[in-house]
Amino acid sequence: MVWLRREDHEDRELRWLCPWGSASRAAGGRRLAEPDDPLRTAFQRDRDRVLHATAFRRLQHKTQVLAAFEGDHYRSRMTHSLEVSQMARSVARALRCNDDLAEAIALAHDLGHPPFGHVGEEALDEAMRGHGGFRHNAQGVRIVDYLEDRYGHGFGLNLTLVLRRGLLKGRVPEGFPISADLQPRGDVPIEAQIVDLCDKIAYLSHDLDDGLRAGLFGESEAAQLRLWREASQSAGSTNRQRVVSEVASLLIHDLLATADAALADTPRSGKPPRLQHSDTMLVLAQELLEFLRVHFYRSPRVLAVMNDGAHRIRRLFAHLRQNPSDLPETTQRRLPRDGLERTICDYIAGMTDRFLHRATDALPQ
Ligand code: MG
Repeated sequence: MVWLRREDHEDRELRWLCPWGSASRAAGGRRLAEPDDPLRTAFQRDRDRVLHATAFRRLQHKTQVLAAFEGDHYRSRMTHSLEVSQMARSVARALRCNDDLAEAIALAHDLGHPPFGHVGEEALDEAMRGHGGFRHNAQGVRIVDYLEDRYGHGFGLNLTLVLRRGLLKGRVPEGFPISADLQPRGDVPIEAQIVDLCDKIAYLSHDLDDGLRAGLFGESEAAQLRLWREASQSAGSTNRQRVVSEVASLLIHDLLATADAALADTPRSGKPPRLQHSDTMLVLAQELLEFLRVHFYRSPRVLAVMNDGAHRIRRLFAHLRQNPSDLPETTQRRLPRDGLERTICDYIAGMTDRFLHRATDALPQ
């Protein structure tokens, strides 16, 4: 018995990946050159670095939709990220794309989220108007490139270029500080599209579960949804957990069918195919999203907690702007390089929900 070395995994990838899959031998290098690992491919190593990051551990105390103090069984950003990574691994593997890269992107995809979700994101973006703005995806790259200073070399987690390109999706605000080698952004790996779609599948299904668990809507209301009824029928059950799990399955299998065709039909020399659901499923998924907006995301109970969180972010930002010496000493060391506003923004964005609560409870009234 001889253990498998990195080269064996890399060879296996070349035999197995579809033409659009990202080979770890073409991971684009790291900003600070380092020797290869004897056991793990470049993407497996990236994944492990994300998993061991402080920013990753903080996700367990960051709100997905329902704040942690509402109950022990609701999704946090960490359990959400783990669910996305499970789905993205399965989908990437089924499509013969790189499941290690998909897993790494999935685990890192929400690292940049501030406390209290999208409402917190808007509050920070507003506070940073005229100073480069704020977006969670761009902040995620800033964390892995710079803020997560694990090794003291100034290159953050020193991840591969292909993974970092995969994280930087969506809009980046004008003037937001992004590493020079990501401008222009370059090709986004196909695995990033897979993660994006699995992110949506994960939250559509687990928010349905959490909303029911919280009593924000009942099963009879959920049964108004065509996707719920289809799932119940194909699962042959009305059991809530079974139906929710079948909703995820239907979405995944629909995605596999259309994505497989798109990957096969697009020559590797051209632009990457856009992976998406079938037209029929898009309509059903949109119906579910609208339902969750009305009954869950915009419910008074959820909004009250979120708006309080946003208010706390605004208060703390204003206070620290007036009193920069209240920033922790290690954070103050970044002031000369990053400027006052960006330093405060990074500090608040890194907070967990409960840390923000403690920090604002201690503010002078
Ligand atoms: Mg997400």
